[in-house]
Amino acid sequence: MAKGKSQYCTWYCGECKMAGQVTYYNKHNNDTIMKDKKRFCPKCRKHTVHKRKDTKKGSS
Ligand SMILES: [Zn+2]
Repeated sequence: MAKGKSQYCTWYCGECKMAGQVTYYNKHNNDTIMKDKKRFCPKCRKHTVHKRKDTKKGSS
């Protein structure tokens, strides 16, 4: 596990703003970072564009 190099992020539904999936990515690999992606939102009950928001995982 590469701890400390991972940036956690939460995906929010672009329509209802509900927080969805939490993922993480490698900060040093900027090329592969997506700003939005289409995901199924259980609240809207359809596929919507989700926006990424970086979050921190509490303890270090
Ligand atoms: Zn939604």
